[in-house]
Amino acid sequence: MKAPIGILGGSGLYRMAGLALERTELVQTPFGDPSGPVHLGTLDGAPVAFLARHGEGHRFTPTEVPYRANLWALKFLGVERLVSVSAVGSLQARHRPGDLRLARQFVDRTKLRQDSFFGGGLVAHVGFAEPTCPHLSEALMAAGRRLGLPLEDGATYVCMEGPAFSTRAESRLHQSWGADLIGMTQVTEAKLAREAELCYACIALVTDYDAWREGEEAVDAASVLEVMQANVDKAQALLRATVPDLVGAPRPCACGEALKAALFTAPEHVSIDARRRLDLLVSKYGYGKR
Ligand SMILES: [Zn+2]
Repeated sequence: MKAPIGILGGSGLYRMAGLALERTELVQTPFGDPSGPVHLGTLDGAPVAFLARHGEGHRFTPTEVPYRANLWALKFLGVERLVSVSAVGSLQARHRPGDLRLARQFVDRTKLRQDSFFGGGLVAHVGFAEPTCPHLSEALMAAGRRLGLPLEDGATYVCMEGPAFSTRAESRLHQSWGADLIGMTQVTEAKLAREAELCYACIALVTDYDAWREGEEAVDAASVLEVMQANVDKAQALLRATVPDLVGAPRPCACGEALKAALFTAPEHVSIDARRRLDLLVSKYGYGKR
């Protein structure tokens, strides 16, 4: 069964109404093992593939998440559109805990990530000026408006390496840049999704105000958990209202041909090794294994 819609997020996300999981698949990839098995099933009848980014039981730090294997596995299982869900800190007072935002721009402050499938004999430079899919993002916005969710479009997301949270100085620096949100995972996924020619959209769940805000009354763990659970409920409602309409819908965007003008290595110089490794991504451009 092919699942044209993939969902990457916390493992709590795939315990939701309307979702019938049918089987799991542990995909072997040229980039190692994914975070865990991909759960395949249907959401109100629409075929979907779920993958828990940090592994079952949250075992991988943002640095350790096997991003390349995760994106590869989803592509291999037929995913064309990928919705990524993750918790973020807010850098601006108007993004409040409990709000949902669509991240549309990123500032990459990571330093220990492998964020490209390419290299090792085949060079590609994909366009990344618009790092998310406008069509998929608009579909989520339309559903969010229908449901009356506290969802806004157009956020700029700073992706830091972690795992420690920001210092107050860093938080204020990011804020002074005009960025909206801070997190540790999404820019890496967005880059790999573009290389894999997937439509990619990012639902950011605001859980706290990062470190910039002084004088914030201390919050207890119970209220943080409460905000996070409420956020997951909203994200699930949003997914449920969006995903079934996307099945079979055309992709009126350029995501599906991101590699068309991006492959720089002359075909006669691409090694058999690189062709074999990257066959899933590049065979349609004549760079496949021979
Ligand atoms: Zn797209």
